Amino acid sequence: MFQVNDNYQKLPGSYLFSTIAKKVNAYSDANPDKKLIRLGIGDVTQPIAPAILDALHKAVDEMGRPETFHGYAPDLGYEFLRSAIAENDYKARGCDISADEIFVSDGAKSDSGNIQEIFSVDNRIAVCDPVYPVYVDSNVMAGRTGTYDPATERWSNVIYMPCTKENGFVPEFPKETPDIIYLCLPNNPTGTTITRAQLQEWVDYANKVGAVIIYDGAYEAYISEDDVAHSIYECEGARTCAIEIKSFSKNAGFTGVRLGYTVVPKDLKCGEVSLHAMWARRHGTKFNGAPYIVQRAGEAVYSEAGKAQLKEQVAYYMRNASVIKTGLQEAGYEVFGGVNAPYIWLKTPGQMTSWEFFDYLLENANVVGTPGSGFGPSGEGYFRLTAFGAYENTLEALERIKAL
Ligand SMILES: *Cc1c(COP(=O)(O)O)cnc(C)c1O
Repeated sequence: MFQVNDNYQKLPGSYLFSTIAKKVNAYSDANPDKKLIRLGIGDVTQPIAPAILDALHKAVDEMGRPETFHGYAPDLGYEFLRSAIAENDYKARGCDISADEIFVSDGAKSDSGNIQEIFSVDNRIAVCDPVYPVYVDSNVMAGRTGTYDPATERWSNVIYMPCTKENGFVPEFPKETPDIIYLCLPNNPTGTTITRAQLQEWVDYANKVGAVIIYDGAYEAYISEDDVAHSIYECEGARTCAIEIKSFSKNAGFTGVRLGYTVVPKDLKCGEVSLHAMWARRHGTKFNGAPYIVQRAGEAVYSEAGKAQLKEQVAYYMRNASVIKTGLQEAGYEVFGGVNAPYIWLKTPGQMTSWEFFDYLLENANVVGTPGSGFGPSGEGYFRLTAFGAYENTLEALERIKAL
């Protein structure tokens, strides 16, 4: 008789987005005349930029002719894309990363979920709280997290690093020593980030204790402040302790197109064992490459026209972020994020819980956001609004909130 992977049975249900959908549907059914504005989900709304669309079309046509048809892509990605990434995302920023340290994939969610596979199940992970759920859940599935305590909403074998307004949303070095440290900066859900100097301290810490940092840079394109690193490899010593995961979803609108990459430097070793070689082996065995047409689209992200158009797209969303942030401040809210990321994290007023504020906003302003407690216990008492909506809707949502 077969047995299942018991670790999956340990996963608590993730009710966040289904509970939100249920509440929103119940409210609209009861109030069909009310126009809801959704500032809840972390998905982009702007269409694919023209320069990228052209590249996609051209690549699609190539696939229809025998002399330009492409079958399986090289395991680690086409050279044209890996070189464009190395040149633009690394060399241009003074980071020492070469094209053959870049592994092209179908997105950052799969990479951030899969990367734990190359580490021992005995390793202990450390995560920020609140956190993007993939890091913890993928380690639960692998059997690395111990037992779940519903009362504290914590796993016995996970090290949590609370990020709250009390510490300025800067994770502190944990008391217990982790083996694997997940950092997502700029952060989803809080929209906050840390300075290059603070990131350097994390790199120094990881090198000192022998830990690996898994660095999720999905929101790098939104960085506006000079003292914030665009890559962890801007920090000295990161080549021996950091893996960086990047996505084309938030900077180029590829949430439905699918493309990402992971950097594993060749200097990252456990004794004599190279993590680069292990990830190459994993990629070659379990992944058959991102589509040719999508990799061509990814190459166009780095063209002059592509860069200019995407800069405008990011600016569009960041104008929304500014509308949300200043609007909430005018209405007397305590607000965080929204400067280097398309998320605004607000403190719920008057001791309201995250879910109480969700109901309050839904019923009184017809605005949908995301309760902070859905991202971890330290998210309780906070609430997330996203800048990924249409400008006109964002303006109207803030007018409604200000009128409350
Ligand atoms: C959106 C997001 C990603 C991107 O995932 P893709 O699979 O590339 O679409 C990765 N990490 C975080 C924290 C995100 O919010």
